[in-house]
Amino acid sequence: MRLKDKVALITGGARGIGLGFAEAFVKEGAKVVIADIDIERATKSAAAIGPVAKAMKLDVMDLSAIDTFVAEVDKEFGGIDILVNNAAIFDMAPVNEITEASYDKVFSINLKGPLFMMKAVSNVMINRGRGGKIINMASQAGRRGEALVLLYCASKAAIISATQSAALALVKYGINVNAIAPGVVDGEHWDIVDAHFAKWEGLKPGEKKAAVAKSVPIGRFATPDDIKGLAVFLASSDSDYILAQTYNVDGGNWMS
Ligand code: NAD
Repeated sequence: MRLKDKVALITGGARGIGLGFAEAFVKEGAKVVIADIDIERATKSAAAIGPVAKAMKLDVMDLSAIDTFVAEVDKEFGGIDILVNNAAIFDMAPVNEITEASYDKVFSINLKGPLFMMKAVSNVMINRGRGGKIINMASQAGRRGEALVLLYCASKAAIISATQSAALALVKYGINVNAIAPGVVDGEHWDIVDAHFAKWEGLKPGEKKAAVAKSVPIGRFATPDDIKGLAVFLASSDSDYILAQTYNVDGGNWMS
């Protein structure tokens, strides 16, 4: 019960890695708010977890809604101890095909939203005076570019940098800010990725995904279960002396 009675706010927790975090945090004793644009799915996911999980609708692109949303959670739960900036979208286009619309959308959801969530939640944590934990979801894509994934990679590189700046500013309030950089995690967006590569590289459906899995030194994709242990650690007091870090959870991908 490393998160006993803690209140955790997880963006994009309706499915995938964020849902894995919500389940794991509840097992460790936390109350969890799943903040997702897909409220139907978030509601089903929260119901499956149980009464200590609540789904609330939030579009992290809507900056005007963030302060009110965070104030509502703070009021209802009597504080926020943990923020996980997990919501993000993937985008595939090489530099000569990017559009302003996709730039705006990717950077709004993957960078602007998380920054203003950190602003709103850190102010709530500062006013309460009991510190807190902020975890930003980065990616191996933030460590190195990929030919077909420019906007996503750039947004994740920016999150790694923002994690460092925020951590250095918030440490004096007892707030630890760190990031997690997964490698390749199986999930719904891989169908889209696979289809893009099939088009770009003339591959058969499933061929790219299989090749990627084989290229990971550990020999397989991650599952959300592989990522959750680090999130629990970073959300708990076990990590009180750690800040400004971005940890790879990538089956050795970065080394290969
Ligand atoms: P996913 O696409 O399965 O889930 C994303 C969730 O975010 C969904 O529930 C979606 O409804 C929600 N969301 C999307 N736009 C939103 C918005 N504007 N406001 C609020 N919620 C919104 O994602 P995932 O694969 O589980 O990835 C989770 C995190 O981990 C992301 O930050 C992603 O970049 C990162 N990551 C994923 C992988 C991977 O291979 N899956 C690898 C590295 C990093």
